[in-house]
Amino acid sequence: MSQQPSVCIVGAGAVGLATAVHLTRRGVTDVTVLEADHIAAGSSGLSVGIIETQYVTPLDIELRVRAMGFFADLERDHGLHVTRNGYLRLAHSAEQLESFERSVEIQRSLGVADARVLDAAGVGRLVPEMRVDDVDGGLFGPGDGFIDGHLYCALLGELLEAQGVRLLARHKVEEIESPPGGGHLVRTSRGEFRCDYVVNAAGAWGDHVARAAGMEMPLAPQRHEAIVVHLEQALPYVVPSVMDYTPHSGETGLYFRHERAGQMIAGLHSEEATEGVADPDDYARSARPDFIEEVAEKIASRLPGVGDPGLAHGWAGLYPVSPDGVPQVGPSPGSDTIIVAGGAGGSGIQLSPVMGELAADWILHGEPRSIGDGGRLSPRRASLRTAAETA
Ligand SMILES: Cc1cc2nc3c(=O)[nH]c(=O)nc-3n(C[C@H](O)[C@H](O)[C@H](O)COP(=O)(O)OP(=O)(O)OC[C@H]3O[C@@H](n4cnc5c(N)ncnc54)[C@H](O)[C@@H]3O)c2cc1C
Repeated sequence: MSQQPSVCIVGAGAVGLATAVHLTRRGVTDVTVLEADHIAAGSSGLSVGIIETQYVTPLDIELRVRAMGFFADLERDHGLHVTRNGYLRLAHSAEQLESFERSVEIQRSLGVADARVLDAAGVGRLVPEMRVDDVDGGLFGPGDGFIDGHLYCALLGELLEAQGVRLLARHKVEEIESPPGGGHLVRTSRGEFRCDYVVNAAGAWGDHVARAAGMEMPLAPQRHEAIVVHLEQALPYVVPSVMDYTPHSGETGLYFRHERAGQMIAGLHSEEATEGVADPDDYARSARPDFIEEVAEKIASRLPGVGDPGLAHGWAGLYPVSPDGVPQVGPSPGSDTIIVAGGAGGSGIQLSPVMGELAADWILHGEPRSIGDGGRLSPRRASLRTAAETA
């Protein structure tokens, strides 16, 4: 292998593009992004774009704090538009509130000074239209926000093209060969490419691309919908992103965020696989009536102060969910030079910078250097196999 490896990245979504950015920042010049459709054609162009650090486990928090640094750099240096409306995670038990207190300590130790725990009254002051009599409090990050997935990917694409990266739309990867002499031959719908490393950043299509290389990737693409909420009257402040989901509850929870004056976006979130596995090439793209009804009911219950909003312009996309709920970044089980970067579920926009950084680590150093515990995302971990077998 030459001193700097040549890399083919499959997928021009947030994760594939961020991987390419980290490689070029570290001096890798021979990078080709192969995209079946166009930039952000997959989940990244269908997301709600929330970026935040209000998680509870040390690894979840560390990954997101590092990612927020990347977004802040893009905001400062390249004009990425980040709406910093804040993020509020609701607690429904004393145990959850305790875990929020620990989260604040961890975030402080990582330099996030403004995260704080609110009691129910504090939550009510933040969003006066919200019902809080059944809430124990919340975890609030005032510096969190949201971005537009399309604009984010387009910006990464511009930065990459300025670095000489080949960004090839309508190049669907159909077969990945690994000849005995080393390296890979990637056959696409529009020609062949040779490279030392392949990065599988194909989102919900991750298993399809793994199979093109004769392997498998445990993945459960889950259909998730979002919808625009048209308020009767614009609120006199910018609503934070509010998440009313209890992790590992096995249920979906309501979330909503500011969109523009008089409009919010709402959806139902889960970090687990709660639906049947969706086919990324064939799933219903618009919001179903039962989803709209459930969101309307949940908004009426959680936000009685907004009156009777209209729900319209819904859409559906896919969360690329790992069977054990943890993203996958690292060498695939079948090859040291086919790197997986996927399975980020409903957090793939906010995690894309750090997943890209870890993928670049594996290519350049053979280990995840940017995050001490980054090895826990390895696609070779036992928990992934076990979860896939029991799913
Ligand atoms: C409704 C909704 C709301 C969401 N909200 C948020 C949020 O608020 N915050 C957040 O962080 N995340 C959110 N997500 C999740 C997030 O969108 C995904 O986790 C993330 O976009 C995954 O990025 P990716 O790059 O892995 O995949 P993708 O964006 O899907 O990119 C994969 C790319 O690979 C390409 N591809 C597939 N097969 C091939 C092939 N054979 N050859 C070449 N190219 C191929 C596809 O065309 C696609 O462009 C949301 C998702 C949905 C559906």
